[in-house]
Amino acid sequence: MTSLTQKIHFAPAFPIPDYLVGEVQSKLAYVDENIRAAQVSPNGDDIQLTFGNAIDEEEKKLIESKVQRVVTSLVKGAFKPKVQILEDYLDRPLPYREDPMAELLRRGELSEEASGVYALGPLLTRLINWFESRFVALADSFSAQPYRFPTLIPARYMERVGYFRAFPHSLSFATHLHSELDNIDQFAQHAACDEQGNLNVPMERFAQFKALLSPAVCYHLYFALADKPLPNGRVTATAVGNCFRYESSNLTSLERLWNFTMREVIFVGPKEFVLENREIARQRMQKVFAEIGLAYRVESANDPFFIGEFRKQVAFQSAFQLKYEIRARLPFKDSTLAVGSYNYHQDFFGRHLNITLPDGSPTHTGCVAFGLERIAFAFLAQFGFDTAKWPKVIKESI
Ligand code: ATP
Ligand code: ZN
Repeated sequence: MTSLTQKIHFAPAFPIPDYLVGEVQSKLAYVDENIRAAQVSPNGDDIQLTFGNAIDEEEKKLIESKVQRVVTSLVKGAFKPKVQILEDYLDRPLPYREDPMAELLRRGELSEEASGVYALGPLLTRLINWFESRFVALADSFSAQPYRFPTLIPARYMERVGYFRAFPHSLSFATHLHSELDNIDQFAQHAACDEQGNLNVPMERFAQFKALLSPAVCYHLYFALADKPLPNGRVTATAVGNCFRYESSNLTSLERLWNFTMREVIFVGPKEFVLENREIARQRMQKVFAEIGLAYRVESANDPFFIGEFRKQVAFQSAFQLKYEIRARLPFKDSTLAVGSYNYHQDFFGRHLNITLPDGSPTHTGCVAFGLERIAFAFLAQFGFDTAKWPKVIKESI
């Protein structure tokens, strides 16, 4: 059978500097639904798009002009952010160099329910539980209060914190059928999925969207604290939860998921309280990672803002050192993967959600967030499947 895929390539309107190659590439996934893969050459002078179907000249021109819009918006006038490195243990010796994906699929450790949605088997689950025990110990060391948050998050809260403007591309929405008897009857009789898994149900049958699938854990805490003074002037909390970020054609392995889980330790209070605790958390985690010999570094980073907001927000984040990522080494592709982050939001949530300190000023917030699937994936990418080569502390306890 001949494949219907089609590739095109062309030069970007502006040469893409090395520090923006990854960012431009990941945003190109959102240009058109037919794009299966987007590749920016490492030196930033060529863009290649792969389509799932044949496209004509007119479509090609239109898509090319949208791509140039993305390039222009991200590249024009951009400056190289100064990367600040707080810890560098990338050169720790490692016993493994393969991509764990194939082996995980072969062992039935992963079953792909949909693009970016996986069921995890016993090995991954045990590894995640081990890391979870360490993250919970970190939370306990701050006497963090445990919370449980829902998977749904109200649209009106997300609006209040500007999420629609900053991250529209990765939102996931939840709805239900209109509560009307004939509508529900019709659905029950006719609903079916096509070969691609699309439900054949017209949008009119569904209620307006009032809720989204939550993209992060800490937001729920800020919403719970909204519109009142902060109890005792400070709160330290921890929770684990399902998070959703739709990453389009970037969803290709356990590295980038639509549905993943995050453990967070969250600090709410005066500026010094939040910043000091973020720093103490980093130092405590440094010991945990040393104990297992993880190869990683902690460096300044930015959130994946959408194109219109990107330049402004990134400049802001890097100027005020708001985000540091724990980037674990992936030896099989000679790159790194963010397995966690140390975040400081200044008084952003305090202002937007009206959470006040005893002196009446808006509170500051920060969080330490770990991606559970990613930390297990990075561990297997570094240590492989032969448990004899695993660090003693993990081998002994799982
Ligand atoms: P902030 O509160 O500052 O917005 P956050 O709490 O949302 O930060 P992020 O840094 O955005 O935290 O994400 C935390 C971790 O979650 C990442 O370091 C990564 O390990 C994991 N993560 C994020 N997106 C994905 C994804 N699409 N698939 C798998 N894991 C992810
Ligand atoms: Zn957070």
